[in-house]
Amino acid sequence: MALLNKSSAELEEEIAKRMALHPESCRRIGNFGFIELEDSWGDEATIINTARISSTNNRLPDAASFTEKDRKLLYQLLRDQHGTPFETVYFRFRFIAPIFVLRQWVKHRISSWNEFSMRYRKPISVAYLPDLQARSVEGFVVLDEEVMDEYEKLLDSLFAWYERNYSKVCARIDQCREQGIIPPKSGGRDPYRGRARELLRNVMPVAAYSDVYWTINFRSLMNFFRLRRKPDAQYEIRQYADAAYELFAHRLPLLASTMEQVLAETKE
Ligand SMILES: Cc1cc2nc3c(=O)[nH]c(=O)nc-3n(C[C@H](O)[C@H](O)[C@H](O)COP(=O)(O)OP(=O)(O)OC[C@H]3O[C@@H](n4cnc5c(N)ncnc54)[C@H](O)[C@@H]3O)c2cc1C
Repeated sequence: MALLNKSSAELEEEIAKRMALHPESCRRIGNFGFIELEDSWGDEATIINTARISSTNNRLPDAASFTEKDRKLLYQLLRDQHGTPFETVYFRFRFIAPIFVLRQWVKHRISSWNEFSMRYRKPISVAYLPDLQARSVEGFVVLDEEVMDEYEKLLDSLFAWYERNYSKVCARIDQCREQGIIPPKSGGRDPYRGRARELLRNVMPVAAYSDVYWTINFRSLMNFFRLRRKPDAQYEIRQYADAAYELFAHRLPLLASTMEQVLAETKE
């Protein structure tokens, strides 16, 4: 695997810090993947209190104060698709995943995205390397060691190409500045280096990792779990969806078990 460049080394360090600080909210996935449930707003009581706006002024403080009647209402609301109370609870995940996973993930439009940009920083110089399980179908290894050896070399050569050419371009920009061919840097972003990064990134493969903040309400998160934890979803996004589910279930166990019940009853 290629040497870690600055972006990747910083990220690796940050992941280690987050894992040490919040082990219950973080998971590592694959050779460089990561997901953290950084924040969440609202809980089961938020949903019930919202749904009861028209029937009572009594508000529940949290799920620990739920009676059997409250639990039943939560289940009925979810089963009968009373959508909006479930839109009042939000989750903010941060994940580091290969770009091909991001392309599937971003199709979940009812959510907010913020992604690492190769316009402003060098790419993360790590590519997804499928492990033996990811490379196998019912015990048969579809990509053998010989193919994987070439796969890795090819990806390494792309990162090396980027680093080599970005350094070359920067050296030429600096030289032209010294010679007065292009104007001096006037603070902020250097438009010349920025344009170079914008174009050099075009060689980055979909196996390269990227970094995303994803904010989503529970209604949409449930749809994501329903679609991306199913066996027909691609293995890699399924790993992230399963990890996201574990983190969510750890935080809001009653909502998770109610969702499981409804999903099991409405299985297509
Ligand atoms: C196994 C699998 C294979 C897939 N294959 C492909 C593929 O080959 N190519 C491809 O492009 N995508 C593919 N998808 C993506 C899929 O088509 C959906 O775009 C994705 O799963 C997001 O689902 P969603 O639209 O329900 O989610 P969101 O975009 O989050 O939308 C949530 C809900 O909001 C409503 N909604 C959102 N936008 C609209 C709208 N414009 N009009 C009406 N209602 C709306 C719908 O009720 C929707 O279910 C695949 C998904 C899966 C799980």
